[in-house]
Amino acid sequence: MVINGKELSVSLKTQLAERVAGFAETYGRVPNLVVILVGEDPGSVSYVTGKAKAAAEVGIRNTTLRRDASISEEELLALIAELNADDDVDGILVQLPLPRHIDENKVISAISVDKDVDGFHPLNVARLWLKQPCVLPCTPKGIIKLLKSAEIEISGKEAVVIGRSNIVGLPVAKLLTDENATVTVAHSRTRNLAEVTRRADILVVAIGRERFVTADMVKPGAVVIDVGVNRDSRTGKLCGDVDFEACQDIASYITKTPGGVGPMTIACLMENTVECFLKRMDK
Ligand code: NAP
Repeated sequence: MVINGKELSVSLKTQLAERVAGFAETYGRVPNLVVILVGEDPGSVSYVTGKAKAAAEVGIRNTTLRRDASISEEELLALIAELNADDDVDGILVQLPLPRHIDENKVISAISVDKDVDGFHPLNVARLWLKQPCVLPCTPKGIIKLLKSAEIEISGKEAVVIGRSNIVGLPVAKLLTDENATVTVAHSRTRNLAEVTRRADILVVAIGRERFVTADMVKPGAVVIDVGVNRDSRTGKLCGDVDFEACQDIASYITKTPGGVGPMTIACLMENTVECFLKRMDK
């Protein structure tokens, strides 16, 4: 069965829109998300456009500040400081990747933790690992929602995550652990990867290589979550890290790229913006 992330994201955004509709009356304004886009990377431009569209659907105010790729680190930090100090701004997102001359860690750390809608700030990361209330990173949060929406039992299951990035692999492994799965994190140095992945009741794939996971790597009946977003070298269309056609009959549940994890990531960003707004309003 295909877990439809697009459909689930629409229902999450509809619920959020219903909540946001009452905010003007209760708080005198709606949440305000500011996205900073540095340069013209086509992938980044398309993500930022998707975020702006989702914000409009939910009723969140959204501004995209476009800056030339030549912006200095100092200028970008000054812009963030300005937005941190602006009481009308509830969420700040700096679209990654940034040009090489800018230190991403420095930029992420400069965003006020209360406005860190991506959940990438070191304090939010620490709070996640300490099981304290925090802003959860959008993609891992969306993956857990996808699993829960399909009523997939996570507790006690063997989960394998391929990929150990700070934004997907590691936090999703942590969230699966918190849901009482037994989690293995695999990566480029993992030996006998197919042997490891065949143990998985739940297989999460976040590598960035088209159709990397083949049928022989999937245990019959496993749940397969494909995070990857790649350009298909044959068709030029978007495709995932999993060979969907080959794996769909082996898996019990599977997501598809596009229409799987991606839309949930954006819907969770909207949810995080609403959460940051409410936290600031309640202060
Ligand atoms: P990343 O930072 O490049 O990390 C990739 C991970 O894959 C690394 O941990 C790497 O291992 C591992 N890897 C690479 N080649 C491998 C191999 N041959 N065997 C096993 N592991 C291998 O990527 P990311 O940011 O996590 O993103 C992964 C994918 O998800 C990309 O396609 C990205 O576009 C997509 N993505 C989608 C969303 C969404 O919302 N749908 C959000 C974020 C990312 P090492 O650590 O050993 O190098």
